[in-house]
Amino acid sequence: MHACVVHGAGDLRVEERPYAGPAPGEIAVAVALGGICGSDLHYYHRGRVGDFAVSEPMVLGHEVVGHVAALGPGVDGPAAPATGTAVAIHPATPCGVCPECARGRRNICAHTRYLGSAAHTPHVQGGFAQFITVPADQIRPLPPGLSLRRAVLAEPLSVALHAVRRAGEVRGKRVLVTGAGPIGCLVVAALRHGGATEIVVSDLHDEPLRIATEVGATATVRADRAGDPAWAGVFDVAVEASGAPAGLRSCVERVRRGGTVVMLGLLPPGEIGLLGNVAVTRELELRGAFRFDTEFDEALSLLGQGLPVEPVVTHTFPLERSVAAFDTAQDRTVASKVLLDLSDGRGGSPTEGT
Ligand SMILES: [Zn+2]
Ligand SMILES: [Zn+2]
Repeated sequence: MHACVVHGAGDLRVEERPYAGPAPGEIAVAVALGGICGSDLHYYHRGRVGDFAVSEPMVLGHEVVGHVAALGPGVDGPAAPATGTAVAIHPATPCGVCPECARGRRNICAHTRYLGSAAHTPHVQGGFAQFITVPADQIRPLPPGLSLRRAVLAEPLSVALHAVRRAGEVRGKRVLVTGAGPIGCLVVAALRHGGATEIVVSDLHDEPLRIATEVGATATVRADRAGDPAWAGVFDVAVEASGAPAGLRSCVERVRRGGTVVMLGLLPPGEIGLLGNVAVTRELELRGAFRFDTEFDEALSLLGQGLPVEPVVTHTFPLERSVAAFDTAQDRTVASKVLLDLSDGRGGSPTEGT
């Protein structure tokens, strides 16, 4: 089978990889679509994400959907999905026994295995491949009527839902979102769903702001235009989704006294500047948000119910053109979520239903 493999910084190849079929307890999925994430781009361009460095060839991708291709030994019974069932894949396997898992904070389990991640060695191979095998409990059949093209947003939407959950109650609130990339825009959709009345989004580029408006932002503002009237007033909640220290500064400066800042964008490694005294004297709540857990099922359900997120997907490339897809995804002036189509050239595989 073919797969999109990172070998190191700047070295991304579509190459032949072995496919062994599912082991006991696993399900094999014929992957149809995969979404390129910011972390995939980091692995490609820098050979690392934060402290996680690529030390061996790794298949990228953790936002994948497809069809059940085969069930491994022991996967049976009425709950086992039939071959050909359209499914999404929950990318995380927490350990289940550490203190965080025991406290119900499975998303911050230090031992989690996450698809397409170099956090551990050997790395966990990802899903930008024509087939992937995963433990059966990571498989989620799609709700009736949900297309693969919408379902492929379940992972980033889960990240957004988790960040909004970390913010506490957002109903009736005025919220700032810094950064209108795919995650920032999905945070907007999640805030809208959560009942936020005003959602102001900032970014350095016009195209991401246009998409943010399409998914529910009530106002947008260019981050480099300090005098823009959209900045006026204070915000009850701010969600930092740019990963830039300047975005965090905006959140800390503009959230109300006693307000909440959710830190979602992955900041540069090492120390960064912080308006610490502002956070102290205004009693701000600074909360990290990382990945998600049960929000994945909520995301699939919301996508099945028609949550408006389509504008976030801007491009689709065949697997063989992965390098072009990654280069396009890097250009924030034109691209938001870029998909890889992995169903190509695999004659005889099940096709998408209605
Ligand atoms: Zn992702
Ligand atoms: Zn754990």
